[in-house]
Amino acid sequence: MTDRPRSPRLSDAGSPSDADGQRDPITGFLNRDAGLLAAQRAVADASARHAPLAALWLDIDRFRQINDSFGHPGGDSVIVRIAERIRDSAHPGCDLLRMGSDEFVALVPGCDRPSAEAMARRLLEAIELPMPIDKILVRPSASVGIALLQQDEDASRLLERADRAMIEAKRQGGNRLVVSACGRLSGRLGIQLAREELAIEGALHAALESGGLQLAYQPIIGIDGRVEAVEALMRCHALGMLIPPEKFIPVAEKTGLIVRLGEWSLLQGAHCAASLRRQGHATRVAINVSRAQLTSPTFLQALHGALICANTAAEQIELELTESLFMDLSATVQANLRGAREAGVALAIDDFGTGYSSLANLKDLPATKLKFDRAFIGVLPDDRRAFAIVKAMTLLAHDLGMLVVAEGVENTEQRAACIAAGVDATQGYCNARPMPEAALLQWMKTREGQ
Ligand code: C2E
Ligand code: MG
Ligand code: MG
Repeated sequence: MTDRPRSPRLSDAGSPSDADGQRDPITGFLNRDAGLLAAQRAVADASARHAPLAALWLDIDRFRQINDSFGHPGGDSVIVRIAERIRDSAHPGCDLLRMGSDEFVALVPGCDRPSAEAMARRLLEAIELPMPIDKILVRPSASVGIALLQQDEDASRLLERADRAMIEAKRQGGNRLVVSACGRLSGRLGIQLAREELAIEGALHAALESGGLQLAYQPIIGIDGRVEAVEALMRCHALGMLIPPEKFIPVAEKTGLIVRLGEWSLLQGAHCAASLRRQGHATRVAINVSRAQLTSPTFLQALHGALICANTAAEQIELELTESLFMDLSATVQANLRGAREAGVALAIDDFGTGYSSLANLKDLPATKLKFDRAFIGVLPDDRRAFAIVKAMTLLAHDLGMLVVAEGVENTEQRAACIAAGVDATQGYCNARPMPEAALLQWMKTREGQ
């Protein structure tokens, strides 16, 4: 860092007061608009002096998971504490900007490449320190992209390069820094991703209008051979494409379309449960539910509406929710969970082991079933540590009165390990792949005849 006279800066006054509406209220950093103006000023200043200027773009890794696990208040408190760490590790003369929910920029005047890299390393080390939230020790990390001002470059170009370098740091696995290459860029990954999301959003609307949505059903089989339940998994065919759920569910969640999709799957799933009952099977249908659905005050109405329309008993339906949703303390989510249980609908903790759930909280959850994520099952039988966790957690879940399911069981060795660990049921390609409703009804019939 070269010495330069310090000009008064918007962000280093240290005062949280924000008479001009320029500061982000949570962190006290400059908000996006004020930050862009500060970047223009910094670039003009550096260009006039022929002095170096570095932009460090920092994004918290897996922030969505943190938000999902602790809810927005928890997410906000992580942001506040990370902002403090950034403030403590950043050079005192720099401008600090909050560009988006978990994205920050430091504009460092007089900073050359070695100094910028040293500051990025300090930031990464400070952010990495364990952080207690709700009795859980979270270990956050971040990705940092560095861009150094080039000749004739404007502020938006400088920030764009820093952003792109940050995306590259994420692509390489996160918790690292990447320095932007010099030279002009062709296209921008962010723009490409945004376009892809728009295309998926269009396809989802088309699918809703033209009947391109279907539910596929995958049996969950008890170790006694009984079909314990079938899980309804959404499929989207539109504009000549089959879009996988990992692509369209996040877009549906972002755009709010998930509420309509969710209501549709509740109704279809309830109809399938009625068809199964007519064929003589008391099997439950498990339906996946997203956060946006459960935070809606109309969720219970949609659930009851689906049960009435399909003439299905509540006991034939089960809702699959990620563990973070059970930890959500918001009154609406709690009321929706309670209302569903009181109506007789079973609740399952889906993808268990992938969020930050606390064992202390497990005892209070109104769940009736625990589903181990396939990350634990795919490594069996070789990974003895994963086996030990599955075994111990199964014991605990049983003591709490929950049934335990292993997801993603692909072969007989994995199934044998799951049974040895004490799980009650398995789901996976080893038993059956997800299939359309007609195929499921046929599959159940054939199975019964055996
Ligand atoms: P999930 O609820 O954990 O569903 C299980 C996923 O594992 C399904 O992926 C299923 O096809 C896949 N699977 C089953 N057996 C095996 C196996 O042996 N090996 C492997 N590798 N995978 C297996 P799918 O259908 O692609 O769904 C992905 C995720 O999308 C679901 O994970 C769920 O979180 C979400 N999803 C699907 N349908 C819906 C829906 O209607 N609403 C909501 N909110 N989310 C949904
Ligand atoms: Mg599921
Ligand atoms: Mg799952």
